[in-house]
Amino acid sequence: MNTNKEEKRSWLCSKCKEKLEIGLVKVKYLSGNFEVELLKCPKCKMVLITEDLALGKMLEVEKGLEDK
Ligand SMILES: [Zn+2]
Repeated sequence: MNTNKEEKRSWLCSKCKEKLEIGLVKVKYLSGNFEVELLKCPKCKMVLITEDLALGKMLEVEKGLEDK
C-alpha cells in the first residue's frame, strides 16, 4: 500500500511535459456531482486519473471543455 506516496510524486503531462498541479475538478459519479482534488495540467487541462480513481471507472471527469 503506497498510494499516498504516489500522490506526492510529481507527475508530468505526457503531452506538454508540464508539471501537473493539484486542483479541484468536478466529477460526476452516479447521479451526483463532486469536486475532487486531482492532478491536472495547467496548460492543456488534461486531468490525470490515478489508480485510486480508476477503481470507480464510472467516474466521468468534466473537463474544462464543454461538449454539450
Ligand atoms: Zn498538458
